[in-house]
Amino acid sequence: MNVRLFNKERVMPRSGAIQELQNKKVLLVGCGSVGSQIANQLASTGIGHITLSDPETFSLDNLYRHTLAAHYISWPKTWGLQTELSNKYPWLEVQVMFSELLSLRYENILNTFDLIIIAIGSPTQERIFHDYCIKNSVETAVINTWVEGYGIGGHAVLDIPDSKGCLRCAYVDPIDFSRGLGSNLNFLKPNQNLTKNLAGCGNAFLPYSNLSALQTALITSNLAIKFLMGQLHSSSKVSWKGSDFDVIQAGFQVTDRYTQFSKSLEILPLLNSGCDLCND
Ligand SMILES: [Zn+2]
Repeated sequence: MNVRLFNKERVMPRSGAIQELQNKKVLLVGCGSVGSQIANQLASTGIGHITLSDPETFSLDNLYRHTLAAHYISWPKTWGLQTELSNKYPWLEVQVMFSELLSLRYENILNTFDLIIIAIGSPTQERIFHDYCIKNSVETAVINTWVEGYGIGGHAVLDIPDSKGCLRCAYVDPIDFSRGLGSNLNFLKPNQNLTKNLAGCGNAFLPYSNLSALQTALITSNLAIKFLMGQLHSSSKVSWKGSDFDVIQAGFQVTDRYTQFSKSLEILPLLNSGCDLCND
């Protein structure tokens, strides 16, 4: 009979997890294509407490861009992920909520986390949430992440309260310094209808592959771990740049940032000199 030692002091470092992350608490809002990958990646690093929040159920439309298997169809996405992650990681605690981002505006709850990650791909809601955090002096750092369509790239923005740089820095228009609707990190020009409609389907969607979601989750998880390990002290941003092949095929235009960008995966300062919040 073979006897193996089974305790976290041995198993975690031996299989590549970081034990110092066991006491960290992360709130992940959005468990879709990017969020489900982030949940898996965070769990694999050794983070001890993950709270998932998403009101949606897993459907056939999600199948190829999600970590969940087909037998979870019609389950709440959070329950599916909780089941999978709890089965795999013996020292992980997963809690679930079914709230949208804007229903989570309770500073007492938000302040109990070490980090909040928002992967809902809705700039308007994200900025309303950011306004709430500023007004109520929420002390928890927030990462906003989003993927762009047609394989062009993805982005993550880390906003650390009381450090230089904030989410609004990512929305200063590079030409006239107004606060734009689209992020200045984006690689696709604003005001293009990027969604696609399948014949007879009726609901428009943004085309991107699971690989784009996975790559976007990776830059986000890396940023999260560096922050939680105390290696980042000021607000930061990171992007990955993909090929423009599908964008050109579809007849869309890229931004100047895309053309000039050569710092994929590099963590850069978020501060924008035109941000009215950071430069009062
Ligand atoms: Zn700012």
